[in-house]
Amino acid sequence: MAKVFNWQLGREMDYPYEGTRPKRQFAMVFDTNKCIACQTCTVACKTTWTPGRGQEYMYWNNVETKPYGYYPLGWDVNILEKLGVQDQSKPVYAGKTLFEAAPPGEPVLGYLPDDADYANPNVGEDDSTGLMPQGAYLTMPHMQWMFYLARICNHCTYPACLGSCPRQVIYKRPEDGIVLIDQTRCRGYRECVKGCPYKKVYFNPITRVSEKCIGCYPAVEGGRQSQCTVTCIGKIRLNGFITTPDRADEHNPMDYLVHVAKVALPLYPQFGLEPNVYYIPPIHVPPPYLIQMFGHGVPQAIETYKRVRDDKRLLGALMLFGSTPEILHRFRVSGDHAIGYDEKGGEAIRVPLTEPFQIRAFFDEARKVYRHNVT
Ligand code: SF4
Ligand code: SF4
Repeated sequence: MAKVFNWQLGREMDYPYEGTRPKRQFAMVFDTNKCIACQTCTVACKTTWTPGRGQEYMYWNNVETKPYGYYPLGWDVNILEKLGVQDQSKPVYAGKTLFEAAPPGEPVLGYLPDDADYANPNVGEDDSTGLMPQGAYLTMPHMQWMFYLARICNHCTYPACLGSCPRQVIYKRPEDGIVLIDQTRCRGYRECVKGCPYKKVYFNPITRVSEKCIGCYPAVEGGRQSQCTVTCIGKIRLNGFITTPDRADEHNPMDYLVHVAKVALPLYPQFGLEPNVYYIPPIHVPPPYLIQMFGHGVPQAIETYKRVRDDKRLLGALMLFGSTPEILHRFRVSGDHAIGYDEKGGEAIRVPLTEPFQIRAFFDEARKVYRHNVT
């Protein structure tokens, strides 16, 4: 195995191939505090990319309720169990990655889900950790809790799907880091399905080749954000390009959120894939659960996020979520507005930092109706 540097682990690790970073890296930031599990993203993705035969069970984008929701069933607890006990007292992920923990002769530690694991995409939806005791009231973190975790392929820097493929038909595009499968050469061995710990590659039983999220590359090539991003009702998503921490540009909203403000964190970085979907953790959930999921940056990310009212720059970056279909390459805050710029430096969007308040009359004279304002 080759040695590659994984900045999320802060160390070198083993990987089946030499690491070459793309010219720029497709990335997403999801704010879990805003997701309402409406599944609009799921449906937008499904109707765009997976409406065909053999694709019925595929959800390139899904939204599951943690801690009891999974698609496929138990995807994360299964691989975490194989990886072994996670020692949260250690500062950086000193444990083995999935590549380093691979059985002899195999490139990555993985498992192939059963067909039945794909039978219930909504399992655990809206289930919280338990019932509130009589007379209890809500505290922070919540005594009983759940949150919604939106998931797509992470277009990993070190993809386990790519590393597992015996025919080398999975590749990472040098121009944007999007991970694709060459379907003309795939023979359907499903090693990628077994290898991806996020279980974001799907085998099509009709065409008998594997398929996965394509990062909406036709949109991205045209300077537009992905379907799941632009349709998101909760405006929880931002899609753009990220660089490594040593080359971070504080004016790039993705770099700013991940590398500068450090409010957005990767999903299960200990797997070692350097995933490129970053999550703003839910502020009401106990940190030990979140740390095993998003890493040791969780407490700081939550504290920073809670102080957003005092931080115009962070507020500005967050207000750009869901504000425009265009990919924003730079942003700045000017007065009471956040301004996003396209690749050529043109102004793509300008949003107020504070959304205007409208208090409507209790009785509408024009329509002769009573109204209730929701505050
Ligand atoms: S999330 Fe899975 S399918 Fe996507 S690039 Fe990473 S290993 Fe491959
Ligand atoms: S569309 Fe947005 S708010 Fe709705 S489920 Fe998807 S990520 Fe969550």
